[in-house]
Amino acid sequence: EKKKTINFGAGPAKLPPSVLLQAQKELLDYNNIGISVLEMSHRSADFSKIINTTENLLRELLNIPENYKVLFLQGGGSGQFSAVPLNLIGLKEDRCADYVVTGAWSAKAAKEAEKYGQINVVHPKLDKYTSIPDNSGWSLNPSASYVYYCCNETVHGVEFNFIPDSKDVILVSDMSSNFLSRPVDVSKFGLIFAGAQKNIGCAGVTVVIVREDLLGKACKECPVVLDYQVQAGNNSLYNTPPCFSIYVMNLVLEWIKNNGGTEAMEKLSKQKSSLIYDVINNSGGFYSCPVNEDCRSRMNIPFRIGRKEGDEALEKLFLDGASKLGMISLKGHRSVGGIRASLYNAVTLEDTQILTAYMKQFLKEHQ
Ligand code: PMP
Repeated sequence: EKKKTINFGAGPAKLPPSVLLQAQKELLDYNNIGISVLEMSHRSADFSKIINTTENLLRELLNIPENYKVLFLQGGGSGQFSAVPLNLIGLKEDRCADYVVTGAWSAKAAKEAEKYGQINVVHPKLDKYTSIPDNSGWSLNPSASYVYYCCNETVHGVEFNFIPDSKDVILVSDMSSNFLSRPVDVSKFGLIFAGAQKNIGCAGVTVVIVREDLLGKACKECPVVLDYQVQAGNNSLYNTPPCFSIYVMNLVLEWIKNNGGTEAMEKLSKQKSSLIYDVINNSGGFYSCPVNEDCRSRMNIPFRIGRKEGDEALEKLFLDGASKLGMISLKGHRSVGGIRASLYNAVTLEDTQILTAYMKQFLKEHQ
């Protein structure tokens, strides 16, 4: 008998089964119009309704203030590593920006931004990504165009549980891997972006939430499809958008709303992640998570097995055993090794309990 598969992948990641079923049901004939969303014109009334509903749901779920635009763009989170400086580095004359580098993703964003302006990392370089440098010690530049940070580092499992103080400079955040997993005060940000393929849908679309007064400042080399003002002026339809990915996002947002919204997602994410951290903390060092307790991610939990630096043979045994029980995509990112459990919105408490039961059993057999 085939075991139920549980996907603990870091993204693309598990989608709610009801969303997949609905997409399947509607795949050949959307809303009785006789064609699939896959075949539908992005200029049709039916697609307008899909994209507008998606935007309205996002606005409702995150309480997005009216002076913010919501964009649906292509190019992924990585596209935004370029789009952010291309659109915002010129906000101030000095063309410089401050970056907080707490893991692989913010490091990549800072590297990309260096093509377009002067980038200052606001703290001494970290030799390992296991903590967040104390905000009060950041060397912020008052003439920076923006301050950038990654709210949840997907590879290293480091998550901000506070909104940094950027001292009156525009704050920009990559929320790709913890978007809609808790409420956010959008008014504290100039810009937030998030790829859909973790918490809110499938790959292909990236949400950008940007304050209106920051539009229209893009440098002249900015590719037109990445120009926030152009996309905002065209309701994200300057060119063909990723229609099907937006449709899937629509379904996931409805699912989030029907399941209690961002508050419920936050509560659930705390419950799920605590289950795993508790097993790690109570394993007498058999399992170890290198991240400081005060910034351990609710979304991505990296850990090693056997010794602090990881016993690779034991880790392989763990992954093989998990896979036999239907638990897949638990391998850590190739740059850090070990195990990583990703617990996005669609991963249930029961899915998580199956993993913790296996972790406890594995500990008993191998400690
Ligand atoms: N930022 C974060 C936090 C991510 O986790 C990822 C992808 N895993 C990216 C950016 C890059 O996204 P993409 O692959 O869509 O370019």
